[in-house]
This record gives sequence, C-alpha cells and structure tokens, in this order.
Amino acid sequence: MTDTLIPEIDEARAEAERLRPSLRTRLFIDGDFRDAASGRRFTSENPATGQPITEVAEGGPADVDAAVAAARRAADDGRWSRLGPGDRKKLLIGWADRIEAHARELGLIETLDAGKPIADTVALDMPETAACIRWHAEAADKIYGQVAPSPEGTIATITREPIGVVGAVIPWNYPAQMAAWKLGPALATGNTVVIKPASTTSLSLLRIAELASEAGLPDGVLNVVTGPGDTVGEAIGRHPDIDCVAFTGSTEVGRRFLHYSADTNLKRVLLELGGKSPQVIFPDVTDFAAVAAQVAIAIFWNMGENCSAGSRLVVHRSVKDRLLEAVAAELESWPVGDPLDPATRVGALISKGHMERVLGYVAVGLAEGARIVTGGSRVLEETGGWFVPPTIFDGVRNDMRIAQEEIFGPVLSVIEFETEAEAVAIANDTSYGLAATVYTHDLDVAHRVARNLRAGVIGVNTYSEGDMTMPFGGYKQSGFGGHDKSLHAHDQYTEMKSTWIQLAES
Ligand code: NAP
Ligand code: MG
Repeated sequence: MTDTLIPEIDEARAEAERLRPSLRTRLFIDGDFRDAASGRRFTSENPATGQPITEVAEGGPADVDAAVAAARRAADDGRWSRLGPGDRKKLLIGWADRIEAHARELGLIETLDAGKPIADTVALDMPETAACIRWHAEAADKIYGQVAPSPEGTIATITREPIGVVGAVIPWNYPAQMAAWKLGPALATGNTVVIKPASTTSLSLLRIAELASEAGLPDGVLNVVTGPGDTVGEAIGRHPDIDCVAFTGSTEVGRRFLHYSADTNLKRVLLELGGKSPQVIFPDVTDFAAVAAQVAIAIFWNMGENCSAGSRLVVHRSVKDRLLEAVAAELESWPVGDPLDPATRVGALISKGHMERVLGYVAVGLAEGARIVTGGSRVLEETGGWFVPPTIFDGVRNDMRIAQEEIFGPVLSVIEFETEAEAVAIANDTSYGLAATVYTHDLDVAHRVARNLRAGVIGVNTYSEGDMTMPFGGYKQSGFGGHDKSLHAHDQYTEMKSTWIQLAES
C-alpha cells in the first residue's frame, strides 16, 4: 500500500502529536538502536515553531568506531557483498516498498524536523526516496563486467567489486532524499554504510534505517550515527577503516573531507557541493507565465534551500520587466505558512542561525546597491518559526556578493544582459558550476549556450535535474570525484579489478 495522501492541517497536527512518542532518536548500529557511548543527547527543533521536538542521541568518535566495526564485519563476512545480486535487489526493493508505504508518516516527520511543506515531503520527498532506492536496486543484477581483447591463451576480465565500508555525511535540505542518493547505489553495489544525517534533521533517516531492518537487510549493513559534523562527521572523514566517503553539503566543509582523506588512509572522496546557478532568459521567450513558473520553482522551491537553486536570473534587458511582472503574478500562488498546511509552498528555514544568515545577505544586497522588488524581511514571527518570504533583488551586478555567494535561501538576484556572449560570460563567472538553465525557442542559441555553460546539470526550457536516469554533479567548486544518481553512481562505489589468466597449453 502506498500512503502518499497529504493530510488536512488539523489531521496533520493531530498525527504529528501522536507520532512524537514513537520517534526514533537513538543511534542505529548493527541492527539495533542504542544510546551514544557518552549518554549525551541534543535537542531537535521544529523550524516552524522554534520549539523542541525531541532529544536525539549525540554520537561521538567512539560511536563512529562501533558503527564502522559493525559495517566492517558485515563487509568482510560477505553477508551482503556476497549475497547474489538478485537477492540484494529483492531486499532493497522490499525496503523501498516500506518507505513508500510509510510516506505519510515519514513525510510528517520530515516536515516537523526540517520545516519543509508537507505537500512536498509526503508526495515528493518520500516517494522519490523510495524510487531512488528501487532504481539502484533494480540495476544490481543488470550490470555486467568486461572481457578485454587479450591474446590467445589468456583470458582478461575487468570486474567491479564493492569498495567495502562507505561513510556518508549529508545535509538537512532533503534529508531522506540525499540519504537515498548515497545509500541506493552504495548498497546496491554490495557495500556496507555508516551514515551521518545533519544534526538538525536526524529523525527521518533513523526511521528509514529501522524500515531497512524490517525489510531484512542484515545487521551492520546500514548504520546511522547522529551528532554534530565537527565530531561525528570528522570521525567518519578520518576513519582508517572507511574505504570511501560520500559527502553532500557546503563547499567549505567538502574541502575538509579531502584533507581528512589525505591525512589518513586516502579513502576515496566523493563531494556534491554548493552552487550559484544561473537561469538565462533570452528575449524570444513568449509564454512569460510558463517561464515565470519555472523561474519560481528554481529558486523558491524548498525555501531556496537547494544546492541547484537558480539563484541568479540572467535576463535579457528587453524582457526583464515583463518577466518580473509574470514572476510577481506567479508568487501569488506561493503562500508562506505552516509547513503542516497542505496549501503551503514556502515553509520555514532550517534554523534561526540560517534565517539570520539569509537576512544578513539581504542587508548585504541593499548595502551593495541592489533594489528589493519583493520580500526581504522575516514574516510570521508570532509563530516562533523562521520564515523568510520569496525575495527578489533587481539591479544586481554579477560581482556583488549576493551574486557570487551561495545564500541557500529564497533570494533571487536579477542581472541584465544584452548579448549572448555577455549572458554566457555572466553565467559562467562564478566559482561554482552545479546547474544552469536556458530559456529560448531558438534551437541554435539553446544548443550553443547549453554547450558553453560550465555546469554539470543543464536545463533547456525547464528547471529540472531530470530523473534517476541522469547523473547529478557539479563542475568547478560544486563537486569532486563523482556523481549521484544514474548508473554512473554505481561505478564510484566500486573498485575496478583486472584479472589476467594465463591458460596452460594443451
Ligand atoms: P554543511 O554545513 O556543509 O553540512 C553538511 C554536513 O556536513 C552535515 O551533516 C554537517 O553536520 C556536516 N559537517 C559540518 N561540519 C563538518 C566537519 N567539520 N567535518 C565533517 N562534517 C561536517 O552544509 P549544510 O548547511 O548542511 O547544507 C547546505 C549546503 O549543502 C549548501 O552549500 C548546498 O549547496 C549543499 N548541497 C549540495 C547538494 C549537491 O548535491 N551538490 C545537495 C544539497 C545541498 P551538522 O550539520 O550535523 O553539524
Ligand atoms: Mg530539526
């Protein structure tokens, strides 16, 4: 059964209260929940109220050691890696089915913990989390090795093997989905995993891990250690018995993982980092309402807390005013409000500190001489929650800080251009290179610009990163070492083995 029915607000509030005592809040290691070795706990807050939801176990290096030991035992004795790929597939699909069947419960947990609109968490995040695990699971028994063209009397094979124990450290913006982007391919290829959610959003992953156990994943295959980045995250990054670490988060922290690896065991490092992605609008667009709808999704979906957010609107001077009018009209259907309300499209920012950071950028933009078209200050303060409405700055130059630095909130910077060359130059004038979109009906312009944009994920006449079949990863300082999603994600969690066999002469 799939429970992706979005509850009405009163129902959601009542269900959220009923859920509270059953929330999983302890470390999940070797198939069981346990307290942190230190016994410490930290408070998880509801971004929509500023109130505590529950206390979560605060793991530390000793807990990472225990989780890695469990993952190592499970990796070495072959309980997972040597299971037939078809059997692994079956167990992972069973897990995906359970996630989907619990989409409403998990979506509610995610909404409470992360401030994300319930219409998204129940109907998108959780079904897509399940779909991601299912997609990678289905590939498990469909990937072949190679036989190299070796001389007569020899056989040469190129095969892929699990890398061993994978560590994963993930952010708070799509807590379940970002976990699935790592867990799907890492587990499907036969690795065992130790994963750390962001401490602001630990709850959905703990429940998802429990569902993995219920679905029959052997103990030790998936371990969750909750706690802060500078202790648990660093312990994962430096652990000598972790073979590969997959990280999604800021460029600043991602850089540290390269140091952790270089200073310890040279574990493989896969980084998915930040962005300052351009949306380039050419003057031949005709359906302004449709483009405005895409522009709004690109920057305001998930409160702009999206690594591939289209945070720079690079628009031709001749159509800027019409487009901004259309965006203003579009924003009438983007209510800011209680994330438990199914009508809400803009929920709360993740934390007070993050809200202050976003509002700090608004102040920076004003000081730099940009003009606010809409939004720009905190709203719904009486709720105790951390709400910032869609905010648009016009009159932005690309060298301003609000055009160069990732704000990770609902703030759009509008920058004008005259020529195609200028548009491409502005779009590429950033240290990031995650995503970029281009809007035009001219086939030549579309292809030329798509080719000239230095970014890993390009949308033409749509804001979309595609589905599970497409790799997701960034150029420049937006990524390092690999990609999430698609079969390319399988390669990065495996070692490549060359085996040369000399046959005796008959
Ligand atoms: P963040 O501060 O880099 O945190 C990401 C994760 O790293 C969290 O689990 C965090 O733990 C942990 N961490 C923090 N300090 C650490 C340290 N010293 N050593 C090891 N781990 C550490 O990023 P965020 O604020 O959560 O997320 C926002 C960023 O993620 C944005 O830059 C965004 O663009 C990026 N992002 C990228 C993608 C992508 O696929 N490219 C997707 C989503 C988000 P705690 O939070 O528990 O301290
Ligand atoms: Mg929280």
